[in-house]
Amino acid sequence: MALIVQKYGGTSVGSVERIQAVAERVKRWRDQGHRVVVVVSAMSGETDRLLGLARKIQPCPEPRELDVLLSTGEQVTIALLSMALAAQGCAARSYTGAQVHILTDSVHNKARIRDIDAARVHADLEAGRVVVVAGFQGVDEHGDITTLGRGGSDTSAVAIAAALKADECQIYTDVDGVYTTDPRVEPRARKLDRITFEEMLEMASLGSKVLQIRSVEFAGKYRVPLRVLSSFGEGEGTLITFEEDVVEDAKIAGIAFSRDEAKLTILGVPDQPGIAHRILGPIAAANIEVDMIIQNIATEEPTTDFTFTVHRSDYARAMEILRTLASELGARQTLGDEQIVKISLVGVGMRSHAGIASRMFETLAVEGINIRMISTSEIKISVVVDEKYLELGVRALHQAFGLDGVQAA
Ligand code: ADP
Ligand code: ASP
Ligand code: MG
Repeated sequence: MALIVQKYGGTSVGSVERIQAVAERVKRWRDQGHRVVVVVSAMSGETDRLLGLARKIQPCPEPRELDVLLSTGEQVTIALLSMALAAQGCAARSYTGAQVHILTDSVHNKARIRDIDAARVHADLEAGRVVVVAGFQGVDEHGDITTLGRGGSDTSAVAIAAALKADECQIYTDVDGVYTTDPRVEPRARKLDRITFEEMLEMASLGSKVLQIRSVEFAGKYRVPLRVLSSFGEGEGTLITFEEDVVEDAKIAGIAFSRDEAKLTILGVPDQPGIAHRILGPIAAANIEVDMIIQNIATEEPTTDFTFTVHRSDYARAMEILRTLASELGARQTLGDEQIVKISLVGVGMRSHAGIASRMFETLAVEGINIRMISTSEIKISVVVDEKYLELGVRALHQAFGLDGVQAA
C-alpha cells in the first residue's frame, strides 16, 4: 500500500464531468488500497478570469488583495471534487492551504513554501479518507493568504509529497508526459519515458511550462519521485529520474523555448571598470531579473556597448531605468526589442559530445534565422532569435537532432 500525491491541473478539472472523471480515477487508486492525497488547480480559465476582474478595477492591484481573490479558484475545485468523491462512495475531505498549514513567506503572488504541517493530512489518511488540498495557495506567518506564482499547484503537490514522504507524486495534465518539445509547436514531438531531474530543471527554467520550475527544484531537494501523466487516458507518463545512466543515450533530451523575452541595449558607454555594475545595479535594485548579458569587446574606442535580456513583463520598467542611465553616463543611444524569443537545446549528453553548438548554429543558418545572442552551460545551449522564427527554429532543430517521433498525419 503506497502513499500517493496526485495533482490535477486546470484542464483536468475544467468541468463537472472532468471533476467526476478525476474522482473516478482517485477512487480506483483508493480501492486498490493506496492512501491518496489530491492537489487541484482552479478550473481552466478561472485564474485568468479572476485576474481580468481585478484589472478592470485597478491596473496593478495590491498583491495581498490579489492573492485573496486568486486563491478562490482552487477553493471551488476542492469542494466540488470532494463532493464528487462522496457521490461515488469515497470518503474525502477538502482543505485550503491555510487549513493544512502550508506556511509560506510573505512575498504575495510568488510566495515560497517554508513548511507544511502534515499531521492533519496523516490523521485523515489513517481514518481512510482521501484528502483534497487546494494547490497554488498558502498562508504566511501573519495569517494572510499567499499564492505561489502561475502554475504553482505543481509546487504545492511536490511540497506536500515531500512533507508526507509520499512514495510518488503524480502530476496529471492534458498531455501524457514530458515531450521532446511542446507538442503544440511541434506535432512530431516524442514523449519521453524518462528524463533526468537536471534536464527537467533546465527545461522548466528555459520555458517549458509543463512543470513549474519550483516544483522541480523541490523534487530535487527532497528527492521526491515525480511523474507527469495524462488525466485523459492511461499510461506510464514520464518519470523524472535521478539516475542519469538509465536514460536513453541521446545527446539532446529536448528543446525548450520562451516567448517571454525582451532585449535592451545601451550603446557607447565608457569602457572602464565598474560599468557593468553601474548599468545592472539599478536594474537589480528594481527587482528585475536579468537573463543573458553581452558586453562588446572594445577596440580602439574608449566606449563599449552592452546588451541584456529581461522578462517581457519587466521591459517597460527596465527601459525607463536604462534611459535615465544613458543620460547620466553620456551613452550614445538606447535600443530595445520586445519581439524576441529564446530557444534552448537541453541534454546531459552534451557534456560528453562535442559539436552540438555548431550543428545548432548551422541548422538555424540553413533556415536563414539570424542569432541575436548565445548563452551556454554544461547541459544547455540557448539562442535568442526574432519572434517570427520561433516555430521554424524549433521544428528545424527538432529534426536536425533526431528528435522527431511518428510523422504527424
Ligand atoms: P496544467 O493545467 O495541467 O497544469 P499546463 O498547461 O500547465 O497544464 O501544462 C501542460 C502543457 O504544457 C501542455 O498542454 C503543453 O502544451 C505544454 N508543454 C510545454 N512544453 C512541454 C513539453 N516539453 N512536454 C509536454 N508538454 C509541454
Ligand atoms: N490556478 C493557478 C494558475 O492558473 C495555479 C495552477 O494552475 O497551477 O496559474
Ligand atoms: Mg501547469
